Amino acid sequence: SSVAVLLAVQVLVFAALYLPMRQGTRQLQAAQDELKTLVSIDVLTGLFNRRHLMARIEEEFSRASGGGRRGPEAASLAFVMIDIDHFKAINDTHGHAGGDVVLCAISVRLKNCLRAYDILGRYGGEEFLAMLPNTSLEGAKVVAERMRQTVRTTPFKFIGKSIDVRICAGVSIVAAGEADLTPAFRRADEALYKAKGAGRDQVAWT
Ligand code: GH3
Ligand code: MG
Ligand code: MG
Repeated sequence: SSVAVLLAVQVLVFAALYLPMRQGTRQLQAAQDELKTLVSIDVLTGLFNRRHLMARIEEEFSRASGGGRRGPEAASLAFVMIDIDHFKAINDTHGHAGGDVVLCAISVRLKNCLRAYDILGRYGGEEFLAMLPNTSLEGAKVVAERMRQTVRTTPFKFIGKSIDVRICAGVSIVAAGEADLTPAFRRADEALYKAKGAGRDQVAWT
């Protein structure tokens, strides 16, 4: 009958449309996932980019602060700010590609010094920033020193050549009662500046 024909046509039309639609939805989801990655990950090193790093750090800070002002019972948070020594000279000697290889390889070494829940990102050109939850100043100094050692003891390899790399690190913690991250951040930066001034290849803190 004509009803049966109509039904058959409807089933065919549905089948013909359903699969491409499902495929389309999947592609859209994949594209969305890729976009999310692109806006949060630094393409060269695979670490968090600065924007996403700062967002994660703020998030961790509000969690540790429990929303309100930081009392004495608040979990301690530490910053380690890392900057490669004389990176311009590395670029000059080995080319920009050599510098890029160092940036990639150093990211892996720095990450290996951290715990799974520590936050590490590329803060700038040859600057990295780590935030260590539940970590004292003493604890963060140990981590920063480990970073310095892991970089200086094994040269980096680039097209058959060895590249010696040194870093400085500035360490600080968020003090109890501090309502925002700005002072701790500034102290890490000041410590880094101090390490540079003291001759490089060192860890300093404030
Ligand atoms: P200091 O010991 O005082 O830290 O000296 P520096 O040479 O490391 O510091 P400076 O800030 O003078 O130079 C940083 C250089 O890093 C300059 C810039 O060209 C280079 N740079 C920034 N981003 C990249 C990058 O993505 N790849 C490469 N190869 N070089 C980069
Ligand atoms: Mg720098
Ligand atoms: Mg530098």
